[in-house]
Amino acid sequence: MSQEPINNAASSSAPASTNFIRNIIEADLAANKHAMRRWSGRPGPAAQQLAGPLDPARIRTRFPPEPNGYLHFGHAKSICLNFGLAQDYGGRCHLRFDDTNPEKEEQEYVDSIIDSVRWLGFSWDDPGSGGAVESECNLYFASNYFDWMVQFAEYLITSGHAYVDSQSAEQMRATRGTLTDTGSDSPYRTRSLEENMDLFKRMQQGEFPDGAHILRAKIDMAAANINLRDPAIYRIRHASHHNTGDRWCVYPMYTYAHPIEDALENITHSICTLEFADQRPFYDWLLERLAEGGLLQCPLPQQIEFSRLNLTYIVLSKRKLIQLVEEKHVAGWDDPRLPTLVGARRRGYPAEGFRLFAERVGASRSDSLIEYTQLEDTMREVLNESTERRVAVLDPLKLIIDNYPVGQSEECFAPNHPLKAETGKRAMPFGRELWIEREDFMEHPSKGYHRLFPGNLARLRYGYVVRCTGCERDESGAVSVVHCEYLPDSKSGTPGADGYKVKGNLHWVSVADACLAEVRLYDRLFSVPSPGARREDDPEGVERDFLADLNPDSIRVIHAWLEPALKNARAEERFQFERHGYFVADR
Ligand code: ATP
Ligand code: MG
Repeated sequence: MSQEPINNAASSSAPASTNFIRNIIEADLAANKHAMRRWSGRPGPAAQQLAGPLDPARIRTRFPPEPNGYLHFGHAKSICLNFGLAQDYGGRCHLRFDDTNPEKEEQEYVDSIIDSVRWLGFSWDDPGSGGAVESECNLYFASNYFDWMVQFAEYLITSGHAYVDSQSAEQMRATRGTLTDTGSDSPYRTRSLEENMDLFKRMQQGEFPDGAHILRAKIDMAAANINLRDPAIYRIRHASHHNTGDRWCVYPMYTYAHPIEDALENITHSICTLEFADQRPFYDWLLERLAEGGLLQCPLPQQIEFSRLNLTYIVLSKRKLIQLVEEKHVAGWDDPRLPTLVGARRRGYPAEGFRLFAERVGASRSDSLIEYTQLEDTMREVLNESTERRVAVLDPLKLIIDNYPVGQSEECFAPNHPLKAETGKRAMPFGRELWIEREDFMEHPSKGYHRLFPGNLARLRYGYVVRCTGCERDESGAVSVVHCEYLPDSKSGTPGADGYKVKGNLHWVSVADACLAEVRLYDRLFSVPSPGARREDDPEGVERDFLADLNPDSIRVIHAWLEPALKNARAEERFQFERHGYFVADR
């Protein structure tokens, strides 16, 4: 079982601010923009028949993860945004694996991503409506488009928009220019179309080693935007790919592949994070050239950027997450302390909490760092509504009711949810010996302490009022047993109960019936809001190792006594343990 500590911070957040994206979509729908799809120029290959023909009333978005890691909380924002917009506007959202890089991509990641998107509550299968709206399965792999990507690259060569460069990587870097200086043309920029085509074909046939040549778009080495200075579009990589095996030894660059993937799938609004804003001119340039050549139909997809999700106390960089797992700072990708979706699920965070959180943080173009407590508060809000209450004693101390007959037991009834009478009550066995929390007894009480101390009355929740009579200590001096007497006419739910006004109200489980369980109490993985950030008292300092900010006490494993009803808890079933917080039965 994993714990979410209770925190009473207020949990109101501003409503969604996805308005700027919604405004664009609504304007496009009002203008029937995507109903005007037409072939421009010469007829080309029927590439865009992957996804069904566009309906003017439909938008198409996509979530395009690269299968090189597990999904994290940032991805959840993107998933909820893309699938959510498609849902809201009666459109479709594709799950597309952006698997164009043969290195680092694995089936394990593909499977886990599929599972996490489903878990979040979204689907790429659209059953259609039986009539005009056909069913669609919108699960795609970018690597299935390699033939088209090569064909499009060859078109760029023949139309004078691409050339094979044979400079070394260092030479290319040196001639690329800087933010303030323009770049200079490669000596290979003027190669003939025939020579370019011949070299690109031979690159595909595996005649050259990695890095010997590269295909570049021919745009403008003096462009103010560095991304337009003849960006690389195809490189040689003698590597096996998880989907296409050894079929290819040239692979497209991400910035070339991504716009083509969007266009082939008839994506209308290609929503991505802000770091791609500088790539948008190339995105548009490429698709416009291909449309001119009749290879794609217009209107083309539109790229729209929003700011990434950043949260305090966690890291969301894939590299850092991989490092935490590989160096075993956590127990695996689904360690409940990691900000991965598989981890969150094991921690007991509900999918609905992520959807609500995404709606609250909205999407805007300004960078922001969101307090982790905002996420926690949202999760608690959902859990408070949805989880049943149960009783668990995490730090047990034995309570003996000396005037309760040995061997006798009876049932007490506890509501499953205080706000939902329809969820009913469950029986909790009560007997002479109970487990209570160690902190619910003090031999010498401090001021304002209303629980058990010699002479004081307190209520055993859903049971009787008891008067504490004293305690026993073991050889070490620690309290080992507390003694009390119960007041037989005080049972909760009976007319006599109202006659007792006591301030202390404790939870308990019967010693004879309780079940013992391993309980894991989780705290934050990092002990500072921005792991690895330079310290405020050292403004000159460099970025520090984020591992130095790991919280050494992020997990505590204990053994606790649970009420018998919890014996039947199903894996992933979540509960609120009264007076403690939220817990989930581990898978
Ligand atoms: P990489 O460095 O490997 O590209 P990535 O985090 O961008 O890492 P992708 O698999 O490319 O991972 O991401 C899939 C989608 O999720 C992209 O559209 C990306 O913009 C979005 N995304 C990733 N991180 C965040 C984040 N922190 N907030 C919102 N969206 C995110
Ligand atoms: Mg990415």
